[in-house]
Amino acid sequence: MNGYRGRFAPSPTGPLHAGSLVAALASWLDARAHDGEWLLRIEDVDQQRCSAELAHVILQQLSACGLQSDLPPLWQSRRDDLYQQALDQLVARHLAYPCACTRRELEATHSNMAAPRPRNAELIYPGTCRKGLQGSASNKPLAWRARSDSGRPIHWSDRRLGAQWQDVEREVGDFVLKRADGCYSYQLAVVLDDAAQGITDVVRGEDLCNNTARQILLQHQLGLPTPRYLHTALVLGANQEKLSKQNGALSIDSTQPLAALNQAALVLGLPQREGKLDDALNHWVAAWRAVWLPLYNPAP
Ligand code: GLU
Repeated sequence: MNGYRGRFAPSPTGPLHAGSLVAALASWLDARAHDGEWLLRIEDVDQQRCSAELAHVILQQLSACGLQSDLPPLWQSRRDDLYQQALDQLVARHLAYPCACTRRELEATHSNMAAPRPRNAELIYPGTCRKGLQGSASNKPLAWRARSDSGRPIHWSDRRLGAQWQDVEREVGDFVLKRADGCYSYQLAVVLDDAAQGITDVVRGEDLCNNTARQILLQHQLGLPTPRYLHTALVLGANQEKLSKQNGALSIDSTQPLAALNQAALVLGLPQREGKLDDALNHWVAAWRAVWLPLYNPAP
């Protein structure tokens, strides 16, 4: 073992589709190309939207594709205590706080009205409750938020996209760590679990790139290491948006795993393969190594 640890972290809101298989394959190839370990994490914090049955379907689909976790999968729905402890720690250090603003109040906030925001984008939270509950639900926190006013932008380097930076306070605002329904946020859970699983390399779809600065900010606040990041190209649906359940992504056909993997390989710029599944996977590991390892470990 050389210390490399990668992961695939699906949210079981639907079966694996062509888009999620790209992230699964890319993260698996990167781990194998580094002779490292590949772990699975079931991101089912939001139990309203996720189901254990779907998680098992995903595990079976991955296994049919020859992608198996090196350790038993981690289930986020079983880790509330850990998330709460971290939240308590952030609150005690004044890095997180309760918020009583309703969505209507957020929508009406001047800074949110001033600039048009992309569809589906979260509202920029201007820190209204930072110094105590201000929103109309005054005595009842609706959410717990992380302070994003660290005073400097977050810079990081993506292995595919190059230098990145984000001013989290200006572009996102104080983001949610725990929702009114008691559900911990993706940002909090992902950061704690990447650290708990010892993940050195996050390989995932480019749609998640925008979350990275928030995650690095939390890592800094919690004293956790920052993994390397590689965000892969996306599979687009007919409407040119990221393929998702909402725009009709179909489940992959796991009775034809090589066909599904070839489609994912194409998105990753890898050649098409016929024959045995294992041979195809081995071929792609070698191809991935040739492309990504020199970039990953540039000559001094
Ligand atoms: N659970 C997230 C998703 O299914 C992925 C999280 C991640 O890879 O950081 O979109």
